[in-house]
Amino acid sequence: MKRRDLLKTAALLGSLSLAPKGLAQGAPQNAPALGRRYRNLIVFVYDGFSWEDYAIAQAYARRRLGRTLHLERLLARYPNGLINTHSLTSYVTESSAAGNAFSCGVKTVNGGLAVHADGTPLKPFFAAAKEAGKAVGLVTTTTVTHATPASFVISNKDRNAENEIAEQYLAFGAEVYLGGGDRFFNPERRPDKKDLYGAFQKAGYGVARTPEELRASNASKLLGIFSSSHVPYEVDRRFQGVKVPSLKEMVQAALPRLASYRNGFVLQVEAGRIDHANHINDPAATLWDVLAADEALELLTAFVDQHPDTLLILVSDHATGVGALYGAGRSYLESSVGIDLLEGQKASFEHMQRALGNNPDAAQVKEAFRAMKGVSLTDEEAQMVVEALTKKVYRPDGIRYGIQPANTMSWAMVQRNASKPDRPNIGWSSGQHTASPVIALLYGQGLRFLQLGLMDNTHIFRLMGEALGIRYQNPVMSEEEALEILKTSPVGMRHPADVWA
Ligand code: ZN
Ligand code: MG
Ligand code: ZN
Repeated sequence: MKRRDLLKTAALLGSLSLAPKGLAQGAPQNAPALGRRYRNLIVFVYDGFSWEDYAIAQAYARRRLGRTLHLERLLARYPNGLINTHSLTSYVTESSAAGNAFSCGVKTVNGGLAVHADGTPLKPFFAAAKEAGKAVGLVTTTTVTHATPASFVISNKDRNAENEIAEQYLAFGAEVYLGGGDRFFNPERRPDKKDLYGAFQKAGYGVARTPEELRASNASKLLGIFSSSHVPYEVDRRFQGVKVPSLKEMVQAALPRLASYRNGFVLQVEAGRIDHANHINDPAATLWDVLAADEALELLTAFVDQHPDTLLILVSDHATGVGALYGAGRSYLESSVGIDLLEGQKASFEHMQRALGNNPDAAQVKEAFRAMKGVSLTDEEAQMVVEALTKKVYRPDGIRYGIQPANTMSWAMVQRNASKPDRPNIGWSSGQHTASPVIALLYGQGLRFLQLGLMDNTHIFRLMGEALGIRYQNPVMSEEEALEILKTSPVGMRHPADVWA
C-alpha cells in the first residue's frame, strides 16, 4: 500500500472523521480476552439483526409460541455486549466491510472482500485457520458466495463478483459450502458456461441441490446449493411449501462432517436474510428468519455442550431497517396486538411478488394481502401496490424507502387507524442499513466471568485469534488515505442510488 502525504486532505476532512484520533482503527474501548484456547470455532452471523428484531421475536416467542427465545436464555447467562459497526469511511457499514472487520481485524471501505481501497489483499481469518490445519465450513441462507461468508475466506475487489467468487471457493477448498446461488455454479446459467458443479465433484465434493439430496449425502466434502439466488425466507419455507432446507438442517449437515476432521474446524453460519427482510421492511419475513436462526442456535449450543473444546461467537454485522414495535393505544395497551397480528402473516413480500407477477390488478393485490398477510387493504392502498409492481412508482418516495416494490407493499399495510389496530404496529426508519451498535455473544466453556461490554467489530478478529492461537496483523489503512484512494479506486464504487445489501 502506498503511503501518501495527506496532511492537507486530512485537515479538510477532519469533520468527517469517524473516530477520535488514534481510534480510527477502532481500537477497542474495551479489550476482553478469553483466557483460554479452543480447538473449534463457530461464528454465527445474524446479518442485519438489530435489538428491535430481537424484541419483536422475543415477544412473539413468548406470546404466540409459549416459549422464550434460546437467544434470550443465552443473553441472561453468557458473556455478551455490543459492537460498533462503522466501516473505515462510513458510519453506516455494509456487509463486506463488516465481514472484513471480523475476519481481517482492520477497518476497510464498503464494497470489497478482504481488500483495502487500493486493492491490497488482506488475509481472512478462515484462510489463516486453514493454513493451521483446520477444516473450514460456510453455511448461509444467502447465496453461498455472498459478502458475509466470502469475506471470511477470499479477497475480491467486488463483493458482487459472485461468478468469480464461486471459482475462488473451488480453489480455496473449504470442506463444506451450503447455501443458495445456483446461477453461479450451473453451466447453463453462468455467462462463461463453466460447470462449477462438475468442477467441485472432480475435486472430491458431493453436490446436493435439494433437501433430500442433502439428507442422503454421505460425502465428507460437500457443496450444497438449494436455490437460484438466496435461499427463500423461512416464512415461505414454513407456510408456503417452498422446498429448501432450513438453516438448522444445513447446520445439522455441516457439523458432523466438520467434527470428523482431526485438527478441528472453523465454521461460519449466517442467518443472512434477516438483513434482506429488513431491507424490504417485511415484518413476517424478518420474524421467521430470526426464529429460524434461533433454532439453528439451539443446535449449535448443543454441539458446543457435547464438544466443550468449541467456542461459539454470535454477532450481528449491523442493523438494517430498522423495524421497531412502537407503542399504540391508551397507556400503550394496544402495543402487543401488533405481535399477535403477525400470526396471520404467512408469506414474505418476495413470495407475494412472485405470486402476483408484474401486472396484477387491485383485486388480486387485495386478495394476496388478505390471504398471505392477514390484512384488508383499502382501494387506495391496493392501488399503491399495483403502481409499484406495474409502473415502479414507489411510496413513500425518496431514497430512504422507495427502492423496491416490496417497500411499497410494506408501506401499503402500515397501521393507519390507531384506535382500531388491525395491522402490526411496526414502523421502519428506512430500507437501508443503520448505524446502531449490535449484539455480540460468546458461548463456550470457561467464559463465565468474562464481560464483553462495548467493543469495536475488529475485536472479533482478536477473539477468534486468541481462541485458536492464530495471531497475525493485516495492514492498516487510515480513513484519510482511503478517502483519497476512493476517488479513483474500483473498490466500493457504485452509483449512489444503488442499494448495499
Ligand atoms: Zn450485513
Ligand atoms: Mg450477509
Ligand atoms: Zn443489507
